[in-house]
Amino acid sequence: MEQINHLINGIETPSQAGATFLNENPATGETIGAVALGGAADVDTAVNSAQTAFYGEWSRLTPAQRGKLMYRVAELLEAHGEEIAQAETIDAGKPLANNRVIDVPFCADFWRFYAGAADKLRTPVAANEPGTFRYTVREPYGVVGAIAPWNFPLVMATIKISMALAAGNTVVMKMAEQTPMTTAILGKILLEAGIPPGVVNVVQGDGQTGAALVSHPKVAKICFTGSSSVGRSIGETCARLSKPTLLEMGGKSANIVFADANLDQAINGVMQAGLSNNGQFCLAASRILVEESIAEKVIEGLVAKARSVRVGDPRNPATHCGPLVSLKQWERVNSYIQIGQHEGAELLTGGGKPTDLPDECRNGYFMSPTVFRNMTPEMRIWREEIFGPVVGVTTFKTEAEAIKLANDCDYGLGAFFWTEDLSRAHRVSNAMDAGLVFVNMPQYMVPQVPVGIRKMSGTGQNFGIEALENYTKVKGVYINYSGQIYPWLAD
Ligand code: ADP
Repeated sequence: MEQINHLINGIETPSQAGATFLNENPATGETIGAVALGGAADVDTAVNSAQTAFYGEWSRLTPAQRGKLMYRVAELLEAHGEEIAQAETIDAGKPLANNRVIDVPFCADFWRFYAGAADKLRTPVAANEPGTFRYTVREPYGVVGAIAPWNFPLVMATIKISMALAAGNTVVMKMAEQTPMTTAILGKILLEAGIPPGVVNVVQGDGQTGAALVSHPKVAKICFTGSSSVGRSIGETCARLSKPTLLEMGGKSANIVFADANLDQAINGVMQAGLSNNGQFCLAASRILVEESIAEKVIEGLVAKARSVRVGDPRNPATHCGPLVSLKQWERVNSYIQIGQHEGAELLTGGGKPTDLPDECRNGYFMSPTVFRNMTPEMRIWREEIFGPVVGVTTFKTEAEAIKLANDCDYGLGAFFWTEDLSRAHRVSNAMDAGLVFVNMPQYMVPQVPVGIRKMSGTGQNFGIEALENYTKVKGVYINYSGQIYPWLAD
């Protein structure tokens, strides 16, 4: 069985201590193979390699030359698309059909967007007096430490690495221990594209590996996506070290269905925003708010939709949802289903493992799409991120009440709503305390549009050309070309 190793300075490298861990196919519970477990020494070697690359060939390339190499990454991702799609399915349990038509093309587009963005960064020139020139420079940080979760492995690695490279940084990437495979493939694709060795290093490992990366003195910036508890602790460490961070720590989106919505469109989209990827994404809209006058009809529609989700073998092209990523995640989601029932929410459908799984999936971590009603803001299933195929419905009477309920949440990443009234679309969108709003559509995202991150969802901004600012540090420059001697001590 081939072992997945680190990629350090362009070379596939086992851990210095020889440590490994096993990764698992969540659809079957079978072991896939061994993966190098990075320790502090491996992180140190990778960071030094990234720093050497930063001061070497990489910094001598023009932004347009960097972009050209990144464009090639997009082409190679497409050329290797089938291999990547298969690996993501085995490793993360994500449906193969989705990987082929959504994840891989999205990543290729993302690389293309930031390839083009590499030479588009503009900075202001201050109002100048004759004889002076005052301007702003944005410089890459140097070595960026990127830490990603398992829910969209290729997408997460793509987002972090492409933005960092476009801005001229080098990277040490730590993918989640549950899903090492596609980041390992991406690392090789970057080399094949001509990105110099050491510009992107991949260190495989767990939370301790990530912690070593966070506190490494030569890592100039940390970009993290993951749980709130880990994100907060990384934020605290980095605050002590005066190290800048970009932290994305989850969400708990609301999805409001107003009585004037196109209900067929809304019912379909609400379930897509709640249940796709098994609800394992930070924009997942697990709080569904329905206007009282249409509640019974909408709830009936939502339950029917949830029951129509085909849960099963992720290799089957007809499958909507594969397994959750791990037994730990299954147990966590299952515990929230129990908590919801104890708190008094009414379970309408789902809860537990489907009974009609194919034989080879009997040991996999599958969960039936689950819908609650009578969910209230006091409940933990309202307030806490479940990260599973579990949604809850509550009702409202007025637009003001819907807005208040939607914003009654510690997170501030996404918000969704459905209406045919144009004025309401703008009004409610303005009122949402979230960094990303979708009206009459589920979460189809493009790299061009920024994602704000508010409240407990984290700090900074992703996507859009503006996100390059997160990957650069600012400098103001004053130049006096007048020959003037400045007054103090001049006479
Ligand atoms: P989840 O609960 O979704 O698995 P985590 O926040 O635990 O999310 O993990 C997200 C990423 O953060 C993973 O790559 C994981 O290995 C890494 N990680 C976990 N703990 C730490 C830590 N203390 N410091 C740095 N990285 C960590």
